[in-house]
Amino acid sequence: MENFTDEEEAISVDEEGFPSLQLPSEKDGSIEVAEDSFASDFYRCGTDWSCLVETTDKSSENHSHHHHQKKLKQTNLFQMWGFNKVEDTNVDSTSALRSPNEANAIYNTKKKNNSKRPMLGSIHQNDKENHNAPRLGPAMNPRIGDSKRRACPFYKKIPGTTFTVDAFRYGLIEGCSSYFLSHFHYDHYGGLSKGWSHGPIYCSPITARLVRMCLLVNPSFIRPLELDIEYVIEGVKVVLLEANHCPGATLILFHLADGRCYLHTGDFRASKMMQSHPLLANQHINVLYLDTTYCNPKYKFPSKEDVLEFVVKISRNYIKNQPKTLIVVGAYSIGKECVYLAISKALGVKIYANASRRRVLHSFGWSELSGGLCSRGEDTPLHVLPISSLRHETLKKYSETYKRQYTAVLAFRPTGWTYSETTGNQLDLIKPNSRGNITIYGVPYSEHSSFLELREFVQFLKADKIIPTVNIGTSANRDKMQSYFQNWLRLKDS
Ligand SMILES: [Zn+2]
Repeated sequence: MENFTDEEEAISVDEEGFPSLQLPSEKDGSIEVAEDSFASDFYRCGTDWSCLVETTDKSSENHSHHHHQKKLKQTNLFQMWGFNKVEDTNVDSTSALRSPNEANAIYNTKKKNNSKRPMLGSIHQNDKENHNAPRLGPAMNPRIGDSKRRACPFYKKIPGTTFTVDAFRYGLIEGCSSYFLSHFHYDHYGGLSKGWSHGPIYCSPITARLVRMCLLVNPSFIRPLELDIEYVIEGVKVVLLEANHCPGATLILFHLADGRCYLHTGDFRASKMMQSHPLLANQHINVLYLDTTYCNPKYKFPSKEDVLEFVVKISRNYIKNQPKTLIVVGAYSIGKECVYLAISKALGVKIYANASRRRVLHSFGWSELSGGLCSRGEDTPLHVLPISSLRHETLKKYSETYKRQYTAVLAFRPTGWTYSETTGNQLDLIKPNSRGNITIYGVPYSEHSSFLELREFVQFLKADKIIPTVNIGTSANRDKMQSYFQNWLRLKDS
C-alpha cells in the first residue's frame, strides 16, 4: 500500500495491523477461542491448520460458528513457530494489564540472542512519528493510548528466526534482532524515524536511500541488500526479489538452516517474470505471507501496460483537439512513476514535479526518469501532483497559475481502487469526471495483484501455508480468503 493512499482510507489499521473500525462483532460466548487473541487470528489466517487442532468436540457441531470452535493445541502452535513462552517471573508487574492482543508480546523466539534487552512490559515506546505520518498516529486512533502497549502481530514475525518484516510501529520488539522493510510506503515503514535505535534495518538500496533521506534514520542502522543476491544473516539465507510494486519494493525470501523456506511478498503485483525467477521456480515454500489487497474476484483490472496505452491514447487525443491542455498525473510519494513517464515519452515532453518530489525521484537512480524531470511548471504541459490534489476545485486553482499557457486540464488518477466491475477490462468504457474545462480520469493502474494474478501466483508457488497480510480485519474476510486459497490449490492438483 502507498503513502497517503486510498488503501489507507479503506484500511485504517489498529496496533495489531487490523482495521480499527471493522473489529469482529461476533462476541459470542460459545466461541472458545477469544476473538482477538493471537491464537485465533493465527488459526484463521492459514490454509490448513489441522495439525494444530485438537480432535473436534462433538458438542460444537451445534454452534453456528463451529468452524471456529476447535481448541488449539497452543503449545504445539507456539513451538512449531519457534516461540517460547516466557516464564512469568521474567515479566514485570504490568503483566496483569495484558490483553489477549498482547499475548504474542510475551513470547520470545528460541534463538533469543539479546537477553540484555529490557522486557517489553517495562517500556512504553513513544510513538511520535515523523511528519510523513498523516493518519495512523496514536492521536488518530483511540485504541492506541498510553494505557495500552502496541504488540507486534504474529504475522510480522518470521518463525524460527529473530526477524520481523515491516514492524516498526511497535517500538522494541522483544526477541527481534533484525528488522526487514519491504518497501517505502508509510503503512510499512510507519514508526521509523530519526531516533530509531532498535536494531538493523534490512531493505533494498533504493528503500535504504529513502529511509535515510526522508526519515533521517541513523545510517548505522540501515543495511541495504542488493536484489537477487543471497546474504546470510544470523544463519538465515535471505534474498530480496523485485516486487513489481513501487521503486525499491521487494519480496523477501528466507531460507532457514533447517530447510524451511518462507516468502514474504510485502506489497507486490504478481507477474509472469516472477514465475521464471530461478529462486522461485524451483523453490518449495513452506509459508507464503501474501499481499491480499485485491483478493476478491471483483478485482479483475487490466494489465499495467494496457492502462498505460490507454492513458497515452487519451492524452494524445486531448492534445490533438486542444493543444493548450495541461496534463496532470496524481501520484503518491512513490509509485505510479510509469504513468507520467509513459506520457512524457509518447508526447516528447518533460515532467514537472516540485522540489521534494524531484529529490525523491532522483534518488531512484533511474536515468530515464531523472532525465525527464524539469523544475519549472511553465516549461512543460505534464505535471505531477499529489493524488489528493486531483479534485476539481484544487485543479481549477492550480491551473490559474498557468492560465496564460493552458485553457484546459486533463488529469489522471491512477489506482486499482478506481476499478469498476461494470467497466471491467474495457478501458474505453471509463467515463471521465468533467466539469468546465477540467476532466479527471480514474484509471485502474494497480501496483498490487489482481485476483487472477494472485490465483496464478498461488497456484505456481504451491506453498504449504498462506498467511494473508491485508484485509484481515474480520473473520469473515479471513475465512473467505482461506477458501479461495484452498480452491485454487485443489483445482491445480486435479
Ligand atoms: Zn505499498
